[in-house]
Formats: sequence, C-alpha cells, structure tokens
Amino acid sequence: MHTIALMPGDGIGPEITAAAVRVIEATGVDIRWIELEGGEGARRRLGTPLPDETLEAFIQCGVGIKGPFAVEMEHAVVSPGWRRGTSGGRPPKSYNSATNALRREAGGFAAVRVARNFPGVPAPIQGIDIVIIREINEDLYVASEYTVGDDMAVALKIITRKASEAVARFAFEYAKSHGRRKVTAVHKANVLRQTDGLFLKAAREIAGEYPQIEFEERFIDAACALIVARPSLFDVAVMPNQYGDIFSDLCSSAAGSLGLGAGATYGTEASLFEPVHGTAPDIAGKGIANPVSEILSGVLMLRHLKENRAADAVQRAVEAALLDPNNHTPDLGGKSTTQSLTQAIIERVPQFMS
Ligand code: ATP
Repeated sequence: MHTIALMPGDGIGPEITAAAVRVIEATGVDIRWIELEGGEGARRRLGTPLPDETLEAFIQCGVGIKGPFAVEMEHAVVSPGWRRGTSGGRPPKSYNSATNALRREAGGFAAVRVARNFPGVPAPIQGIDIVIIREINEDLYVASEYTVGDDMAVALKIITRKASEAVARFAFEYAKSHGRRKVTAVHKANVLRQTDGLFLKAAREIAGEYPQIEFEERFIDAACALIVARPSLFDVAVMPNQYGDIFSDLCSSAAGSLGLGAGATYGTEASLFEPVHGTAPDIAGKGIANPVSEILSGVLMLRHLKENRAADAVQRAVEAALLDPNNHTPDLGGKSTTQSLTQAIIERVPQFMS
C-alpha cells in the first residue's frame, strides 16, 4: 500500500484533485490518502498557507499530489518551524509561496513538465511530445538583486556544477526509465560562457555516462523557434531555471490547453505532483475545469511509485476519452463538464488494465 499526501488546494483544486483520486482508484492501486490543508483556504482558516502538519506529513509520506494553491503575495511568506524537537531539523526559512516551501523543504532539485498534443484535441502546434526538465534552485531566480544608484540594477546568475550535474543526471535517468531516446541541453553558452558554459560542460560530462541516449545541444532562442517549426526534434530537454520557466509555458500553450499540462517536482526527501496551471478563479466551482492536468500529474506519480501498469492504463484512458469531442471541456472548445470527462476516463480504465 502507498501512503500519499493529498492537498486539494484552492480554486478548481478540490474539483480536479477529487477527479484524479477517482481515476487513480479505478486502477485498483492500493493507496491510503492523507488529506492535508494548504493554500489560501488554509491561510484563512488557520492563519498560514502551509501548516507545519502539512509539511511534516508530506515529507513523511515522501510523495504528494496537490491542486494549485492561490498565492496572496502579502501572505505568501511562510516560515516552516517544522521537525520540531529534531536536533537535525532545519531552522525556519521564508519562502515566497507555500508551494515553493513544499518543494524546497523536500529537497526538490528538478521540475518536470510534460507538454504534448492529444489526438483529437485542437492546438496551435501539432507534433509536440516533450518532457522539460528544469533546475529549480539556482540561476537568475535566486533573485539576488541590487541597485547601483537610481539608474542601474544588477541580478546575479548563479550556476553550480553540483546542481547542473544533478539535473542533467536526472534528465538522462528519466529518459532511460521512460523509454525516451534523446536529451537536449538548452542553454546560451555562446554568450554566457561562464554560467551557461558550466551548465553545458556538466551536461556534456553526464551525457558521456549514457551512450545509449542521444545527446544534443541547442541555444534557447533556437529551441523556441524550433518548437514552432520542428517540434518533433525534441524529446527530453534539460535546462537552467529561467529558460525552463519560459520554455515550458511556450510548449504547454503550443500543445493546447493549460488544462492538459502535468507537472512534478522531484526531491531528495519527497516528490510533489501537481498541474502546471494556477487556481483558475474564473471557472472555480462551476464544474467545468479540465481535470486532465491533475489526472496526468497522477500518472507521473503512479510511475514514480513504479505502478507502471496503472500509469499506462490511465494515460491511455485519457487519450481515448479525449478522442471524442463530446468529452471536451470548454477550454478545449467543448461543452463537457469535469464530472462527465472524469467519468468517461474512468469507464475506459478497465480495458487498458488487462
Ligand atoms: P492563479 O492566480 O492561481 O495563477 P490565474 O487565473 O492567473 O490563477 P491560471 O489558473 O493558470 O492562472 O489560469 C489561466 C487561464 O487558464 C484561466 O482562464 C483559467 O480558467 C484557465 N485554466 C487553467 N487551468 C485550467 C483547467 N484545468 N481547466 C480549464 N481552464 C483552465
């Protein structure tokens, strides 16, 4: 039996996490769900978007699945004083969001975002099937900035060999274990020779350990152009933090709705599975949210749990359900509801489990 931390979150979070739980349960995989509070709702009820109990239980479970958390900037700083009484516990730290606190406290070092087309689903670009793996602790997003007088501002870009090697190794291991053929390192080392140069050097060295996986290098600007012109060139792509942030939004949107985008953060202590989008307040409570992003995040979770048969069955059930435009929610141009799309997926799971 697996014990999984379940954090429904805010906005459409409760609707789509409930859908994901129902679909995962349809596979018969034995899971005990530990439901935990987090996000804006928790802040209103308990005074913090990330109660210590939530963080503690998530790390204890080692695996969590969550809906989006709303971020009210003025209340987003959390100081998890958890692991109380443990001498090895980390001191309280501040984070700019509860989600980042969960990821970082769990030793998160690589974020995965899957962007792909689904047969039968309209999208600006067809032929996308890419797994983006992004380093998440360094680069310009350490947000170490300062100003020099009124007219100059400087931001530090930090790249270390250790983090670059870790994310590159993760990308090759991911490719190996998911039957992918190629890893592309995305960078701008022709301009940023020291920082991106170090990232690229580390990626090249790690690539040498995986001769069975093809290795390619692309400049970030060229990669953006190619995702529009020749998306099939990409398979797994690994990159520093900022490029990953921008490139993954480009790929998700090009492949169709945000409501199809699955995501995960893998950490040394716990891994977190969650959709790529936010709380979608404009459609929350209306019963029309697309649950596929959360369900496919659940597929990533099932693979992480080595429940590959169940993961394949859910994946194929989603694909089969989306082939029928009657199952498309409004974000895909249809009139279906969260409930009926979920039901259509659940009905198709058994045929792919055998
Ligand atoms: P937040 O402040 O939480 O980031 P947001 O509205 O700024 O919320 P998203 O939640 O990512 O950002 O939503 C962007 C748009 O995409 C919205 O119009 C939203 O309705 C739509 N959207 C996001 N997720 C889904 C989904 N699962 N199903 C349908 N539409 C979605």
